Amino acid sequence: MINRKSREEIKLMRHAGHIVALVHKKMKEVVEPGISTKELDDIAYHVIKENRAIPTFLGYSGFPATICTSINEQVVHGIPSEDVKVKEGDIISIDVGATYHGLVGDSAWSYAVGELDDDKKRLMKATEEALYAGVAKMCPGNVLDDISGAVEDVANSYHFGIVRQYGGHGVGHVMHEEPFLFNYRVGDQTLIKQGYAIAIEPMLNLGGDEVEVADDEWTVSTVDKKPSAHFEHTVIATEDGPLITTKLME
Ligand code: MG
Ligand code: MG
Repeated sequence: MINRKSREEIKLMRHAGHIVALVHKKMKEVVEPGISTKELDDIAYHVIKENRAIPTFLGYSGFPATICTSINEQVVHGIPSEDVKVKEGDIISIDVGATYHGLVGDSAWSYAVGELDDDKKRLMKATEEALYAGVAKMCPGNVLDDISGAVEDVANSYHFGIVRQYGGHGVGHVMHEEPFLFNYRVGDQTLIKQGYAIAIEPMLNLGGDEVEVADDEWTVSTVDKKPSAHFEHTVIATEDGPLITTKLME
């Protein structure tokens, strides 16, 4: 069952999302060549704690950190480590969740480390564009396939691969609620109703669609080792249109 968020739940989700956005604001400031993914994780942890929230990912299915850090060909679920330092020309995708008074915000962003080559710049631009094309369809009266199709159309217009095995999801009292949201058309005619909250999260690849999970049982990478990008917002369908919760509140 897909649950509809009440006014009070939406208020708390906006607060959780604001804290997630504060983490991303900080990540944008501190991502630079030489910083380790463990240092990024520590910073994220402190931002969440300072704001009296809980790091949603920490301990989730046994995940050992506050953020997922996925570099270049890594797509999602990379584990922070003091041995992994980003370098000039890398893309690092950082995914983070915060739980505030029982409600969750979930958002990922890909960051350029220094100057990127043109292919990586285009990949980042396309994936962000795909995210917002999907967000725009998160309106009562549309169906889930409208979001999936909007994401797919942007990916296709750039001739980029689309990760098939992972996608968006309902979010609220836990990080993963119903429904699952594909990043390409599957014909899902589930009607979007007011109060539905979904994390929309395209993952696009410079090369093919195929991905595989590493021996650590977490890190997902492209099979062809070409770079991937990941952009995600938590979005609620409201009578006034899509409400992104994972942004800074004015
Ligand atoms: Mg996420
Ligand atoms: Mg998510």
